[in-house]
Amino acid sequence: MNKEELRLLKLEGYMRQEDKEHFSLRVMTTAGNLTSDQVRCLSDIADMYGKGYMGFTTRQCIEIPWIKEELIPQVKRKIAEAGLKTGGTGFTVVGVAGCKGSICKYGLIDSQEIARKLDEKFLGMELPGKFKIGITACPNNCVKAPISDLGFMAQNEPKVEIDTCKGCKICERTCKVKAIEIVDKKAVINYGKCLSCGQCIKNCPFKAMKLEKEGIVMYIGGKFGRDIRLGNRVIRYVNVDEIESLSEKVINYYKESGKKGERLGKTIDRLGIDSIKKALDLEIN
Ligand code: SF4
Ligand code: SF4
Ligand code: SF4
Repeated sequence: MNKEELRLLKLEGYMRQEDKEHFSLRVMTTAGNLTSDQVRCLSDIADMYGKGYMGFTTRQCIEIPWIKEELIPQVKRKIAEAGLKTGGTGFTVVGVAGCKGSICKYGLIDSQEIARKLDEKFLGMELPGKFKIGITACPNNCVKAPISDLGFMAQNEPKVEIDTCKGCKICERTCKVKAIEIVDKKAVINYGKCLSCGQCIKNCPFKAMKLEKEGIVMYIGGKFGRDIRLGNRVIRYVNVDEIESLSEKVINYYKESGKKGERLGKTIDRLGIDSIKKALDLEIN
């Protein structure tokens, strides 16, 4: 098999192993989810064409190693029958990671649904380099938005309604970062510490902790690996409805401005922060 054939197979998710005889197949999930039928299909593939096991990647994909080259066409047929997607490799949008979102008790947005939509639109799109998208539904940041090429993190900022506050201390006990203190029987928020997780709003029994501001923090150009770069942060909150169009703008900027093999963060560093500000028409740190 020549270099180009190997490259194309890799784009489809079949990566040649170190022994040069076998391939490891990368299967995509939708924000970490598969149907039970799909899982059964993957188990069959691992049993019939691999060595009876599969592994999970850090970005919510599954890999089945030890597939012989001559068996790849059969594996492809099974994958297609099960409606599974493979890939997540090469210089492409390599998958959209989403946290548990609205099924999690801390979730502020439906990150799974957002991830599914972005996945449908952008997955596999060829770009100058690898491009990772992450959506995390609260500041616990399970999907690590600031180190994704494009990351989103939901926040809810609280405000105490002084007249309604009974000084019951429930919010003080709720806040994991100790950003609330009861002073003269009233809750006081230290905004320097507050992460805008919204838990004090949810737990106040007297509805005295109000939602002051809600939205999504957007990070651009983060990376984690051989070198680490935190994404630049869009200063204002963005809305759920803006995520798709802003993602498209970032991807187009990268497509037009990135050099081959250069991750988005490097493109921003090379061209300067003003270039991405202009492309998005947003204030960015
Ligand atoms: S980031 Fe928040 S909402 Fe998402 S899974 Fe983690 S704790 Fe739950
Ligand atoms: S939980 Fe509500 S009522 Fe109780 S101290 Fe906090 S803000 Fe005040
Ligand atoms: S929003 Fe979260 S971090 Fe901020 S004060 Fe309330 S509980 Fe603490």
